[in-house]
Amino acid sequence: MNHTDSISMIPRWEAPTPEEVGSTVEDFLVKLGEPTFLWLPGLDGTRTRAVSTLLHGNEPSGVRALHRWIKEGQQPQVNLLCFIGSIGAALTDPLFSHRCAPEGKDLNRCFRSPFEGREGIVAQAMLHELHRAQPEALIDLHNTSGRSPAYGVTTLNGMMQETLTGIFCDHLIVTDLRLGTLMEATEQAWPTVTIEAGGAKDPKADDLAYRGLTRYAHAMHLSDLSAPVTVAQHPIRVELQKGATVAYDHAPVPGADLTLPPDVDGLNFGILPSHKRLGWVGAWGLEALWAKDGTGRNLNSNIFSVHHGELRLLHPSRLMMVTTNQEIAQSDCLFYILPDS
Ligand SMILES: [Zn+2]
Repeated sequence: MNHTDSISMIPRWEAPTPEEVGSTVEDFLVKLGEPTFLWLPGLDGTRTRAVSTLLHGNEPSGVRALHRWIKEGQQPQVNLLCFIGSIGAALTDPLFSHRCAPEGKDLNRCFRSPFEGREGIVAQAMLHELHRAQPEALIDLHNTSGRSPAYGVTTLNGMMQETLTGIFCDHLIVTDLRLGTLMEATEQAWPTVTIEAGGAKDPKADDLAYRGLTRYAHAMHLSDLSAPVTVAQHPIRVELQKGATVAYDHAPVPGADLTLPPDVDGLNFGILPSHKRLGWVGAWGLEALWAKDGTGRNLNSNIFSVHHGELRLLHPSRLMMVTTNQEIAQSDCLFYILPDS
């Protein structure tokens, strides 16, 4: 059962049995109580693969997949080291609705120095444990906050990152933006991808995470799982400028600096024509937005135009990672965009 490793300070549960993990995922999380490592011994005990999930407490598909997988009594081909992160946030009522713990920081922005605060300490201890295990690969399972097809994200692309993505889905986004995420911290150590399994409330996302996890855990060699994926290189991250507000409605909302249609997440991954209206800007005009490339430059005027308050595309573009969650849009990011060249 649980014991706390004196170096890592993160509890580690060795070989949990189907009976021990509880009948529901909520029981499972209550048993864990805090960020925890699970160690699932493989048929081949000389190799290890890593899985991380629930870095965001409102993104349950990965932990649901893990719980289901353990309950089924399956044994992985190689050792699986599984990290389950923001359990406190996930269990804050209502279940799976909080990205971070109240008053807490976004854990998946804390994987870089200074490792400060509770989340920073957890992130640092997690990295320490991963380095001890030296996994062949790391999959970090997330959900999108809006509706979206599943996709992978990597900060360092290569054949293995495409293979890892192909285990789950067929789109991979390569980004050079630095935010303090887990994948940035381990990109040089072993192939790492973030998998966004699809919408947090979509049962299809749970199923996709479960099927991918199963393939990842049972494969003799990950390279056997190679499948074609479409790679999008370096999309532009579009944020609101500090102090600007967003609303979601079918017509411009008075006072909002940006209004997007409530079904804007339906545009995820589709190619949109130039002059396509994305929404409406308010008093700040285009200045409400910050379209950021890897160097932090603002590319607003290269991507968008404004006509009579309408926010339009200058070039045919692909929209990705669109959220319709106002809180996430204001604190993190509105969407990513890749002009089609
Ligand atoms: Zn996430």
